[in-house]
Formats: sequence, C-alpha cells, structure tokens
Amino acid sequence: MQDIQILIVEDEKKIADSLSQGLRENSFQTQVAYDGNLGLSLFKGGVFQLVILDINLPRLNGYDLCRMIRDINPAIPVIMLTAMSSVDNKIEGFDAGADDYILKPFDFRELLVRVRALLKRSHSTVSTGVSLRAGELIMNLDSKEVSREGQSILLTAKEFQLLEYFLRNKNRVLSRADIALNVWDIDFDSGTNVIDVYVNYLRKKIDKDFTSPLIHTQIGMGYILKDRS
Ligand code: CA
Repeated sequence: MQDIQILIVEDEKKIADSLSQGLRENSFQTQVAYDGNLGLSLFKGGVFQLVILDINLPRLNGYDLCRMIRDINPAIPVIMLTAMSSVDNKIEGFDAGADDYILKPFDFRELLVRVRALLKRSHSTVSTGVSLRAGELIMNLDSKEVSREGQSILLTAKEFQLLEYFLRNKNRVLSRADIALNVWDIDFDSGTNVIDVYVNYLRKKIDKDFTSPLIHTQIGMGYILKDRS
C-alpha cells in the first residue's frame, strides 16, 4: 500500500485532519481540501487512487464534485462521508457515482477496512485500460499483462490468446474445435493434441500455484473456465 494517494474533501477541519492523520499512520499519502472547488482542482492536478468526500461542502457540493470526478476518471473509487442518513441521500450519492457511503460519526477502523477493500477491488483498473477478469485473475488488454491475486504471470503470445478466448467465454464449455477455430484459426484436426498441450501450459501458469483452478476439463466435450466470483 505504498504511494497510494488519497484525496480528502471535507470542510470540517477537525474531521479532515484526523482522517488524514489516521490514513498517514497507515502508510497512505493524503491531500486535504476544505471545500469542493479546491477538491476539484487538487484532483485535476494530482494522481489519486481513491477519494473520500463529504456531501455538504462549501462552493461545490459532494454530489456534483463526485460527478465531475467520475467524468475525469470513471474507475477511481469514491467514498462519501456524511451525516445525512436518509435513503434519498444515499441513492443520490450512489447515482452520483459513489462506491461506498459512510455515516458520521464513523469509526476510523471501519473506514480503513472500506478503503482497503475498495483499493483492492479497483487495483487493476485505476491506472490502466480495458481488462478482462475471472475472480482474482486479471488480463489487461492494453498492456498485455496478466496477474492472479496480484502476482504477475508471463504468458507467450499464444497462451495469451488462448486465455483471452477463455475469458471472453467464461462459464461456457468450449470444444477443441471452437478453440482451434478461434485461437489458431484452423479447422480442428483430431490427429493433433496441440490444444490440449497449450491448455496444459496455460493451466500450469494460471492455476497450478493457486488453490482453486479456473480451467476445468469437461470429459468428452472440451474445456471451461469457471468464474464463481
Ligand atoms: Ca460538511
């Protein structure tokens, strides 16, 4: 969790400062804005991985600020912090794009748990482009990187294509003929075991060192990548 920048936008100075201090004590970097406009300009000028914002703010309220932040970065996690507890307020907050909602007064430890959970969930998408995923396995289609539970996995070009095909067809049985046609662009020749060989290569890399396998054999039918998440 080093070098994670969190933006705090909160006009109650005492709350903002104690929040900032608590996060810093837990190895996060923080920047604090005491009003909405300043929050927006700090956001535009920096690189943040998460935003915590109050709703009742001077100059620019939290809902509007949240929408503006969403327009700039659709993937960044936003936690709304507020004393307003009505259902309408919550719905408006989620409509504005908040990922989570914490009522004041709050327990700092609870906030910390939610911060960590959101960062974990968004880890792969904050700074990067389009990705495919199955549980904790993430394939980034722009950078061509693959990781599972945060460990990076090196694949050959063919293994990458094969995994991409599985991820695009999660929870569907794929026959060897489907795989041959879509990954190798060939008609399946039953005399070759190239597909089984490559599926095994892939399994060694993405499944072997992890507790629950993603790729399963359907005897007599082919293979399936199961995503239970
Ligand atoms: Ca306020």
